[in-house]
Amino acid sequence: MENRNCRNCRFWRETPRSDVLGGDCCIRAPSIVMGHLNLISGGSDGTDAATIGFWPGTDEDDWCGEFVER
Ligand code: SF4
Repeated sequence: MENRNCRNCRFWRETPRSDVLGGDCCIRAPSIVMGHLNLISGGSDGTDAATIGFWPGTDEDDWCGEFVER
């Protein structure tokens, strides 16, 4: 039971903290959408867009009832 943590779960993603949205996270559920940006420049019509979202950050020793072994 002691090894049923995020580190050993198939839904855990270890991501370098140097990434823009870095940090270890759980992808068990879809990402949480925080908003949508319309940006000027980039696209063929002079605009571009980006959706901003994230998965919940977890540490390797965290756990929950949805654990599935890798
Ligand atoms: S929070 Fe639960 S489902 Fe997500 S990685 Fe950790 S043990 Fe797995």
